[in-house]
This record gives sequence, C-alpha cells and structure tokens, in this order.
Amino acid sequence: MTDKQKLLELADSFGVALDDTALDRFDIYAEQLVDWNEKINLTAITDPEGITIKHFADSLSIFSAAEFSRGASVIDVGTGAGFPGLAMKIARPDLEVTLLDSTRKKLNVIDDIAGKLGLEVTTVHARAEEINKKETFAGQFDFAVARAVAELKKLSGWCLPFVKKGGAFIAMKGAKAEDELKAAEGVVRKLGGTVEKVLSFDLADAGERNIILIRKSK
Ligand code: SAM
Repeated sequence: MTDKQKLLELADSFGVALDDTALDRFDIYAEQLVDWNEKINLTAITDPEGITIKHFADSLSIFSAAEFSRGASVIDVGTGAGFPGLAMKIARPDLEVTLLDSTRKKLNVIDDIAGKLGLEVTTVHARAEEINKKETFAGQFDFAVARAVAELKKLSGWCLPFVKKGGAFIAMKGAKAEDELKAAEGVVRKLGGTVEKVLSFDLADAGERNIILIRKSK
C-alpha cells in the first residue's frame, strides 16, 4: 500500500538505503496503521501517499541530521503510533530502540505491530518527565528523538536528561522552529546542551521541516 519507489527515493535522499525487507515491513506497518486506526485514534493521515511521505519519509529524514553508529541506543519520546522510532527501527534494525509514551493503548498497538514486523523494540509506558532522572533511564541513551510532542523548551527538559554525555537530542519540527529555539536556549544550556545544527528543508510537497540537533556536552 505504500509507494515503494517514492519511499526508496526519499530515504535515499536522507542517506538511508532501504532493502526489500524494510520496504515490505513499511507496507505491513501502513496496513496495520490503517486497521488499528479504526479501533483507536492513531493518526489523521490514512491515505497511502500521506503515510508514505508524512509519516515514513518524514521519520527517516532524521538520518540526515546525524550519524547513527551501529547498535546506537535511541529513545523516542512521545512516539504515538511509532514516529519516528519504529520507522527508524525498520530502516536500521541494528539500532536499539525504546519507544516511550504516556498512553498505554498506543504502546499496545506498537507492541502488536512490532511483533508482526518481527522487530524487537522496548516500549515504556510513562510520562517522560517522571522517569528521565531515574537511574535506569537518566544518561542511558546515545540519542533522544521526538516529533510533534511539545514545544522545544518543554521537550528539551524532558529529553536531554535521557542522553549520555556526547550524545544528542534531536527534535523534529515543522515551521516556526526559530522562535522555539530562542525560547528554549536557557533550558538547553542549563541541561548541558548546545545547539549543533538546524537542518531546514521542504519534505516533498508536505511543507517546511526543521530538524534541530542538540548535543549534550556536559
Ligand atoms: N511522535 C508521534 C508522531 O509524530 O506521530 C506522536 C505525536 S502525538 C501528537 C504526541 C504523543 O506524545 C502522544 O502519543 C502522547 O501520548 C505523547 N505524550 C505527550 N506528553 C507526553 C509525556 N509527557 N511523556 C510521554 N509521552 C507524552
């Protein structure tokens, strides 16, 4: 149901080579999203082209912002229906992916879909701000990633504590990233972060995207 050629091309433009297994898995993921969406509200985007571009390709654009070394650990904060975390796992099964959300029902769906895809991910049901300073989570991840969860100031406070020194928090934003960056400056600095890059681009015909990479230097 996905446009495999389009997904392949867009992924390639983000530096990701999708093999046949990954393309088949994205197809199953799309089907499952549409099926599950009839039972629980996961996404407003349910047409094949929308899912291909606005969910899958958009999620994969994160790979253009950083080098994810083999086996790197990633926590996706507020993953919802698995974006970007489960899409990252499909593209790069070597990554150790933890999917965090405060809504149990969504994580149940992810567990079901990941099982059908034959992929191992860890799902965690919690509010980010309630676990990010606990021993098992604080400073444990190479990357914290988040898309469409909260404004950057709040999100930095939720995500940076999860990241190891030398790791990074990557926020996926639409337009208006500049204002959010300005508002977040103080919190980012206080938590030992430095804004390393802001990647701005247009995603196919889906509008402006900004990927903000904040390095945890302290
Ligand atoms: N990241 C997904 C995406 O881009 O499609 C989902 C975005 S959805 C708008 C926001 C998600 O963040 C919801 O699934 C919600 O349950 C979750 N969320 C909101 N606040 C949270 C918090 N404090 N801790 C963990 N998850 C949270």
